[in-house]
Amino acid sequence: MTGTAGFHALPAAAVAEQLGVDPALGLSTEEAEARLARFGGNTVPVPAGPGPVRRLLAQFHNPLIYVLLLAGIVTWVFGGHVDAGVIGGVVVLNAVVGFVQESRAQRALEALSKLVPVAAIVVRDGVPQRVPAARLVPGDVVELAAGDRVPADVRLAEVHLAEIDESALTGESVPVAKSAEPVPPSAAVADRAGSAYSGTLVTRGQARGLVTATGGATQLGGIQHLVATAEVVETPLTRKLGRFSRQLSLVIVAVSAGAFVLGVLRGTPAPEMFTAVVALAVGAIPEGLPAAVAIVLAIGVVRMSRRGAIVRHLPAVETLGGTTVICTDKTGTLTRNHMTVTTLAAAGSPIPVGEAAETLRECLIAGVLCNDAELGEGDPTEIALLGSATAAGLDPVAIRAGAPRTGTVPFESETRTMTTVHGDVAYLKGAVEEVAARCGDEVVPGGGVRPLDRDALNRVHGTLTARGLRVLAFARVTAGTTPVLLGLQAMHDPPRPEAATAVAACRSAGVEVKMITGDHAGTARAVAGEVGLAADPRVLTGAELASLPEGGFDDAVAATQVFARVSPGQKLELVRALQRRGHVVAMTGDGVNDAPALRRADIGVAMGRGGTDAARQAADMVLTDDDFASIEAAVRVGRGVFDNLRKFIAWTLPANIGEGMVVLVAILVGAVLPIVPVQILWINMTTAVFLGLTLAFEPTEDGVMHRPPRPPERPLFTGTLLRRVVLVSVLLVVAAFGAYRLCLTSGASVAEARTTAINVFVGVQAAYLVSCRSLDRPVVRSWPGHSRMFLLGLGLTAGLQVLLTYVPVMNSWFHTAPVGFSSWLWVLGAAVVAFAVVEADKLLWRWFTVKASRGA
Ligand code: ATP
Repeated sequence: MTGTAGFHALPAAAVAEQLGVDPALGLSTEEAEARLARFGGNTVPVPAGPGPVRRLLAQFHNPLIYVLLLAGIVTWVFGGHVDAGVIGGVVVLNAVVGFVQESRAQRALEALSKLVPVAAIVVRDGVPQRVPAARLVPGDVVELAAGDRVPADVRLAEVHLAEIDESALTGESVPVAKSAEPVPPSAAVADRAGSAYSGTLVTRGQARGLVTATGGATQLGGIQHLVATAEVVETPLTRKLGRFSRQLSLVIVAVSAGAFVLGVLRGTPAPEMFTAVVALAVGAIPEGLPAAVAIVLAIGVVRMSRRGAIVRHLPAVETLGGTTVICTDKTGTLTRNHMTVTTLAAAGSPIPVGEAAETLRECLIAGVLCNDAELGEGDPTEIALLGSATAAGLDPVAIRAGAPRTGTVPFESETRTMTTVHGDVAYLKGAVEEVAARCGDEVVPGGGVRPLDRDALNRVHGTLTARGLRVLAFARVTAGTTPVLLGLQAMHDPPRPEAATAVAACRSAGVEVKMITGDHAGTARAVAGEVGLAADPRVLTGAELASLPEGGFDDAVAATQVFARVSPGQKLELVRALQRRGHVVAMTGDGVNDAPALRRADIGVAMGRGGTDAARQAADMVLTDDDFASIEAAVRVGRGVFDNLRKFIAWTLPANIGEGMVVLVAILVGAVLPIVPVQILWINMTTAVFLGLTLAFEPTEDGVMHRPPRPPERPLFTGTLLRRVVLVSVLLVVAAFGAYRLCLTSGASVAEARTTAINVFVGVQAAYLVSCRSLDRPVVRSWPGHSRMFLLGLGLTAGLQVLLTYVPVMNSWFHTAPVGFSSWLWVLGAAVVAFAVVEADKLLWRWFTVKASRGA
């Protein structure tokens, strides 16, 4: 069915006939398979990005490359054909490395967008079932509820108060009310009340409808620019670093120009000087920084996805590591969301489930009728109610057959109640306070009705919630009489076994955990105790929050661990209050109404299993297992990633600056270059990839969850980092000049002395890399946890230096010469000394800060 032409103008029954489906039974599985083969999957083809060739060519569009190419040409013209060839090789290699880095980051991200499962509830063979949205076909009968994203174009057949946010399609920001009625054939998409369109969001109510178009045939598929394209590999951090490297580049270019003029004035031939300053610039400019940072983040994303947390926005990886407070749901996140009714109660006394069939029969029946779950399918709260009826010996199927439903007011977390109508009688269920407020009478177990004893009700409710039970009240409503309270059902939802450990880990990491729940204060307090949130938590209810004086709000929020009976709107207030306190807030949410709080939070966390598409769309991170422990794991990985970023930067900057300084110092003091331009290019190319990038793969350090979160205002370039950069740059320059001079005085040729200088330079870089595995702790302690990449990188670099030293072709290209054993001892010695200096710097600084903090 290629198009929805006319369906909106036909009655739903006629649409069903045209689509060849019985709206009550849906398609058969075979028919659905046949249609899937005929119409293809329900996926909108993503427009392909630029192809690999274009992306490779784009790598050459870079000022640095232009400079290098120019240098190559100048060198060629003045007869340095081999040097020019080497420069050409560097240009190509640089492009290939950039290309590979970018593809890698891009691939990691693409894999992510596929991880988020999108399913739809579809009636097939007469049974509602979860089907991957990609397998929907025209004619499928789909059920939609508040929070769902409409999975295909649908002609609605039954509608209960449904409203849909169609802004993605029409730009209209107010949700539109839907009905099952046909509209005139000429009606515009925005005016077709009887249709729902793929990609729009159900914000209220429920509906059932027939799929009229899928995949590229939908309205959404028709509008190419709305198609979700892959996320760009850019974050505030990469942007900031990009700006930093551009500014640094400008400085370096200016210094190079100055050096050029100085050198020529001193009598060095201009072409030779030109190649030298190009080497200076290329060596010193940290051109790979933003791409490498994107890789570090992308690796973090992959690590998090292994721990059950799917990050939807790359910057969230950086933010997660800095989280200072996690606001979490109770149900399903700290608890398992497997509920079992353990006790009922009426007229102030508890009654075991086994005895309820005689004494509280109608309470059990209300639990079955005012209920959307099927056995084993649906809301766990409602499944538990079917379970209690069955345990008491009732037959839910027979009960439902005997009292067909004629109307529904669905559950909303604002009202905390749900009502169903069955002919003359309606059943109401929900939070005890809400239901009791509407009742005047209550049933007496075993028979009879009496005026509602609110004190007795509150007492029994209090006892049940204090045991951590989730309590629902049930009432019968008939026209012209006061509603009658039928009783309470209390269910047990065990805490997740990992929750307590994860909460403890967060606390030792200085991350506060706060529980925000729609459930009762008593239940919330008991569960908070069970998972170790706080032994005697301070609890505030939504009503108490609302009555707090303006000035005291932020303080009260900061000092409270448990928030109960909180409305989604209040969640937003809580996030704001915590952020005003300087907190970096992670906040979980599952409902449609949680979306604003999720967006506002620094890290919005949605549930992959429970929860709604609306919440997932607003979130930065989706938990595949809905488990609190996954948030803790993500924070841990986030801290590790941020560490790796700092390590990478701490290694790269001095490496680059050292390369530039070697040339600059030689020009300034008028010395012969200890390392010539093509050699600098060699070092720059090989070490940036084989040494620097390995830091991206470093495992998270052990202690990350035993230290307080990084203060949100702390910049990436701390004083310690800058000191380290200066120290190591100086070490590199001294090592290169020292090795060169010492070799010459001990009788080596210039080529041999230069070869030794290069090897020493790379050796010091490698030693510093080892030291960078921990920025502030002696590295010996953290040695065992190294990544395989790390050893591989060190090994490859050593191998490449041996090739550079001993292979004749390399000797002629790079002006190197084979050196003797003693030369390698120089390398080893320099590496050991450099390593010792950096480690000593760490220790001294530690000692210094400890002493300073004691003094203060
Ligand atoms: P959390 O926010 O931690 O997930 P929650 O699941 O209790 O907690 P809500 O789903 O908003 O939060 O539920 C709030 C209250 O509404 C519950 O405590 C319960 O009293 C009532 N309630 C929950 N589910 C239903 C339902 N299906 N029908 C009627 N009332 C319900």
